[in-house]
Amino acid sequence: MTDPKRAALRKFIDPLRVEPGSTVILPHGFDPRHTAGYVAKADADEALRSSIALLAEYQDRLSAQDTYAVLVVLQGLDASGKDGTVKHVMSGVNPAGVHVRSFKVPSVEELNHDYLWRYARALPERGAIGIFNRSHYEEVLVVRVHPENLERQRLPSIQRGKSVWQRRFREINEWERYLVDNGIHIVKVFLNVSKEEQRRRFLERIKEMRKNWKFSAADVLERRHWDEYQQAYSDVLSNTSTKWAPWYVVPADDKWFTRLATASLVVDALMRIDPQYPEVGPAERDLLAKAKAELEAEG
Ligand code: AMP
Ligand code: MG
Repeated sequence: MTDPKRAALRKFIDPLRVEPGSTVILPHGFDPRHTAGYVAKADADEALRSSIALLAEYQDRLSAQDTYAVLVVLQGLDASGKDGTVKHVMSGVNPAGVHVRSFKVPSVEELNHDYLWRYARALPERGAIGIFNRSHYEEVLVVRVHPENLERQRLPSIQRGKSVWQRRFREINEWERYLVDNGIHIVKVFLNVSKEEQRRRFLERIKEMRKNWKFSAADVLERRHWDEYQQAYSDVLSNTSTKWAPWYVVPADDKWFTRLATASLVVDALMRIDPQYPEVGPAERDLLAKAKAELEAEG
């Protein structure tokens, strides 16, 4: 922890963390416009570039070590910047080592299984970085705001009562603990966009023809449930920020800041893992020497 780069990074991301056991009532305590002292995009460009370079370097080591994986859980309302964040943060890394998975309305096959099944199948393998663009948290967000989703899951009666959300929080926490214990490091990011900024982004998507494809009429219907989503998110942050997998609330009204903060969180996770290139032992070194001699003899 004496590394000054590491200390600066922690100073930057620590204020975004939801302390395990604390109670969150959005929007209190988390300003969507916070930019940690950066004033404009240009100030942050250099920092973003260096984070992305670090990410690429660490990813190579993660892959070589082949022991740990990183799972980035990206949550946020429509137009909070999830897709753009994935695109920018992962721009410098080797695509072979990153898997992005987006979760939509569950299919018939998915509904035929327990609710965590489809997320478990999409986990990154050792050595890889996996990104969940929406995640198992939708099971306590959209499913809670629109209970007809729960009906479709055909649950046994014990799972249907009022305590279903508390039960799911516990199950998710336990599942994540199991994953962390087994080498899957989890980085949970909530992109915190304000209602006014969402309105502005929707309008932009409608007015600019090139952005029309991004807009869906359903988005405006979802927006009507803004307060219910804020409540559901508050409950998620209060109940599932754990020592082993804490939540980070990333301000999302300035896209450049969202990208810098998210990249920094992934870099921090990789620094904690601190993956090392495997050491070559005497037996392997012997084999390398023999192979070298053989190749050189051909020349
Ligand atoms: P998008 O992220 O814009 O591509 O939209 C994906 C849609 O799938 C969103 O409207 C989500 O609310 C919805 N969705 C994601 N996961 C679930 C889930 N587990 N149950 C129901 N709807 C979901
Ligand atoms: Mg959408």
